[in-house]
Formats: sequence, C-alpha cells, structure tokens
Amino acid sequence: LEAQLRHAQKMEAIGRLTGSIAHDFNNILTVINGNSEAFLRRCSPDDPRRPEIEDVQHAGERAANLTRQLLAFTRQEELEPECVDLNATITEVRAMLATLIGEDVELVLDLPPHVPPVWADAGQLEQILFNLAANARDAMPGGGVLGISTDNVRLDARHPGRIADVRPGDYVALSVSDTGTGMDEAVQAQVFEPYFTTKPVGKGTGLGLATVFGIVQQSGGQIDLASASGAGTTVTVYLPRAQTPAAPLPHATTRTSPPRG
Ligand code: ADP
Repeated sequence: LEAQLRHAQKMEAIGRLTGSIAHDFNNILTVINGNSEAFLRRCSPDDPRRPEIEDVQHAGERAANLTRQLLAFTRQEELEPECVDLNATITEVRAMLATLIGEDVELVLDLPPHVPPVWADAGQLEQILFNLAANARDAMPGGGVLGISTDNVRLDARHPGRIADVRPGDYVALSVSDTGTGMDEAVQAQVFEPYFTTKPVGKGTGLGLATVFGIVQQSGGQIDLASASGAGTTVTVYLPRAQTPAAPLPHATTRTSPPRG
C-alpha cells in the first residue's frame, strides 16, 4: 500500500506539471499550426515554398497530437461512477477497437452473459480498453490475436500474480490479451511508471498504462499483468462489482488527487 501511495503522489505531481506545460504549449502550437495552414491555403499548388511549410504543418500536427495525449492524461475530471454493464460497453466500442487494431489483428471477444455490472465511470472504462488495445496492437506488428474477455472472479489474499497487496473480494475481471512480443521482467517492473516507454520518440508517451493504473486505483480496483518475452501479454483489471454493498470505494490512501479545501 505504501508503494501505491508513493506512486499516486508521484503521478499527481507529474500530472500537474505536465498539464500546465501541455496547456501553454498548446497555445503556442495554435499559432504555428494556424499560420502554416493559412499560408498553405493561400499559396498556389506549385509554390516552391510549399514542401517546407508542409513539413512545418506535419510536425505541428504531431506535436498537437502529443499535447492532446498529455492533456488527456492529466485531465482532473471528477469521476462519475455508476452501474455499468461492462459487456455492453465493450460491445458498443467493438467497431472502434477493430479500427484501432487494424486488419492484421483479429479481435476475439469472450463476454459471458452472467458477468454482473461494475461500479465505475463508463468513459474511463472505454479509455482503459483503448489504451490496452493500442498496446496490444503495437506488440503485434506482424498481426495476431487481441482477446478481450470478462469474468466473475473472487480474489483471495494468495492470488498468484503481480498485485502487490491483494484486497480480497468479488470482482469483475476484464482481461486484454495479445499474442505479441511480450515483455521481459525488467520491462514488466516499470510499465506502470509514468513516461516509461520502449517505443520510439513520437510513437510512445509512456502514459498509457500509467493512466490505466490511475483509473483502476480510483475505481477501487486492482490490476495484474502476465507476460513473457515472445509469449504475449495479458493485462487483467479487477473492478468492483456494482451490486456488492461492500464494493470497495476509492480508498483514502489510494486516491490520485489531494483532498480539496
Ligand atoms: P506507451 O505505449 O506509450 O509506450 P504504456 O504505458 O502504454 O506507454 O506502455 C509502456 C511500455 O510497456 C511500452 O512502451 C511497452 O514496452 C510495454 N508494453 C505495454 N503493453 C505491452 C504489450 N501488450 N506487449 C508488450 N509490451 C507492452
């Protein structure tokens, strides 16, 4: 728990710093992108200056993309937890997930109807799905299978996995698996750290799993990881069930933002 608290505090500090930089940077980019667009609109198609300004525009777009991701990471939104049918949420975004992963990756869903609703913020559940699916896609450049499944799971204190401090109870498990590159031990130990990435500059921000971690913490859930080099990866998120009266609400020591006032 101590380690989780330290992680949450670190996320909080980094989040605030990142948010303010991203915000100011975005204003600067508005000027750069606005002017390069205006220039391209006005100049003739065979203007010799065109390729250079097009380069500026492309770089500006990439930078805007990056700041958007940073702002999404730091957005201090109030959570709106509600009773959510996780299977229905997955079904709703199925087409978007398929587009995200591309044609070379097969999407296989296993959504048993007996899975009870969870207590979570629906928008954040979607973000978890997209972040995990994007990582799975990146791990399978030559194609493969992305599996998304849900199940009813009882966690006990002896749960064999990477969860540091298992809070026993009944959960809904959301598993996202891939048949990709997998990760060695050293990478696995760092994946939830903000800004840890093994992807090239401009491709990875290192914020995907840190964001997932933060959302799961805030929702009173737990997260587990099973992976091995060359053998694919499964990320499992345990979410509190909605109808359990003792559903663990975000615990005071695990929140990622400080108390107000
Ligand atoms: P990013 O995707 O921007 O690098 P993440 O926090 O989502 O940031 O992931 C951090 C790192 O964890 C990745 O750069 C990659 O090395 C590793 N990783 C995450 N998911 C997977 C996966 N499904 N398969 C293999 N490696 C992964």
